[in-house]
Order: sequence, then structure tokens, then C-alpha cells
Amino acid sequence: MSNKPKVLITGGAGFLGSHLCDRFLKEGYEVVAMDNLITGNLANISHLFGVDGFTYVKHDVTNYTFVEGRLDYILHFASPASPIDYLKLPIQTLKVGAMGTHKILGLAKEKGARVLIASTSEVYGDPLIHPQTEDYWGNVNPIGYRGVYDEAKRFMEAMTMAYNRYHGVETRIIRIFNTYGPRMRLDDGRALPAFAGQALRGEDITVFGDGSQTRSFCYVDDLVEGIYRLLLSDYDQPVNIGNPAEISILEFAEEVVRLTDSGSKIIFKDLPQDDPKVRKPDITVAKEVLGWEPKVDRKEGLAKTIEYFKSQVHGVPQV
Ligand code: UDP
Repeated sequence: MSNKPKVLITGGAGFLGSHLCDRFLKEGYEVVAMDNLITGNLANISHLFGVDGFTYVKHDVTNYTFVEGRLDYILHFASPASPIDYLKLPIQTLKVGAMGTHKILGLAKEKGARVLIASTSEVYGDPLIHPQTEDYWGNVNPIGYRGVYDEAKRFMEAMTMAYNRYHGVETRIIRIFNTYGPRMRLDDGRALPAFAGQALRGEDITVFGDGSQTRSFCYVDDLVEGIYRLLLSDYDQPVNIGNPAEISILEFAEEVVRLTDSGSKIIFKDLPQDDPKVRKPDITVAKEVLGWEPKVDRKEGLAKTIEYFKSQVHGVPQV
């Protein structure tokens, strides 16, 4: 039997989950990736099939979930995570955040595993304080289109703290702000894949509203480093991980047009319901508790990501 620490990664074939599989294998862990593939894609982990210590299980974590043998850590990343995905899959989004999290916490309790759950800046909703600190409770519309995601993640945090307090399960909660990088789906509807896909195909770039709403984009490698540090820390309160470099969506669209050398023009479309007007993490806690801050600036991160999108648009096999 192997002495390597063993980690279960739910949503392991997704954008973030697949990068976590890579990182934990590199750190010498045994990795079990679990995914039902409703938004994940086996192409994201196909390079890991046959790698020593890696296993993939096709499973929907809203059902009873079990892993053979010992389990040291769980990273719960299964969920539709882009506004388009959770608008298309509202019930599945609620189920995986609520019932899926319940199953995962039950498994953690059974195995004595430490569990890190992927929460989101969406718990702050359309925030009334800026930048967002972890002690802000948020401004969420429970019955709007985003409510299925936001409330599922808020329930997820409540359930996680209940297992922590009542059952003594070791839990970690990360609140993930907008993240980007290779393996984002071109059709997931998020701002960057939408803009990059449109720019590379020479189509109009669709900015929603007047583009004055802001976001703060973190490169995936920085996020993964934050997750790794949080998992191994002894801090059980929520931690924001994101890049505080804030930009308006219109400026972001212009940046993508420039970096792709595209002739596309920007057009404006209606702003979706409850679209947050601002978003930027306060990362004081991450700095103090984890010694973490982002290292990759947007120009460098976008260059790598746009290379990936080019391979997708032009049909070149991905790395
Ligand atoms: N957005 C846009 N055009 C698009 C897709 C998104 O202007 O084709 C805007 C969206 O309305 C939001 C911002 O870009 O204000 C970021 O959207 P995303 O879907 O990436 O994530 P969010 O931060 O809203 O969850």
C-alpha cells in the first residue's frame, strides 16, 4: 500500500479541479478525481490517465459517495460555476452545493479526512462594501437567476461550519474570486472566454451593460497556490483568494482585443439580472494567515490563456 497522502478532488475534470489534480500529483499525492462531466471535460485530465497515483471516477456527488480505503484530504470543487452554466443547470447547481456538500462532509467525517470546500465571491452578491472582506455578509437576491448558485454556496458554508462545530470535521473554506487560465471552456459564457473567442473568430465583442462594472481577475496558478496553502494551514474560517487588480469590463474587453490583435469591434448588450457592479477581494487574511498573494500579472496570465484559446478555436490539440 502506498504511503502517499491521498486526496479526493470532486469536479476533478473541470477547469479548477484539473489544475488541482496536476498540482497535487506534482506534490506527491495520490489523487482521485471525481466528476459527472455535466460541465467538466475528460480532455482536461486525459494527460493524467496512466500516471502513477492518479484515478478517475465518474460519479455524481449528489448521490451517496464512497472512496475505497484511506482518505486524507477532500477538495470539493464540483459545481457548475459560470453564470451561463448555472442558468442552464439551476437544479443541479443547487443540488451539488447542498446535497453534494452534505455527502462530501459525511465522507470526510467517516474517513477522518480534512475537507476544503470551494465557495465563491458570489456569497457577497452585489456587494455594498468594497473591496470585500471575509466578515461582510453579502447582498444576495435569493430568487434571482444567480440565487441558485449564490444561495447554494452560502448553504454550503453553513453546512461546512456545522460539520466543523458539531462533528469536529476539519474544514477549510475558500472564497474564490474571478479566476482565469487554460482549460476554461470557450463556451462557458464568462467574460474572458466570450471576449477571447469573439476576438479570435473576428466577431463583435459583446459587453453587457455599459461595461463600467468591475471585476478582479486571478490567474489559475496563483489560485492553486492559495488553495494548497489553505488546505495545509490550520485556519478554519473563510479566506478570500483572488487578485485585487480591479478593471472595468469595458477596459478588459479592450485589453483582450489588443492582446489578440483582433479587428473586432465592441458592441453593448443588456446587463443580466443582479450582475454585481463591483468586485474586488480584500486579501489581508490570505496574506497574514497563508503568506499568500498573487504573483502573475494580467498581461502574463492573459498571454498564456489566449494561447490556449487559440488552440481551441483553431482546433489544435490542447496541452
Ligand atoms: N460579461 C460581458 N460580456 C460577456 C460575458 C460577460 O460583458 O459576453 C460581463 C458580465 O455581465 C459581468 C462580467 O462580464 O459583468 C464578468 O462576467 P463573468 O460571467 O465572467 O462572471 P461574474 O463575475 O459575473 O460571475
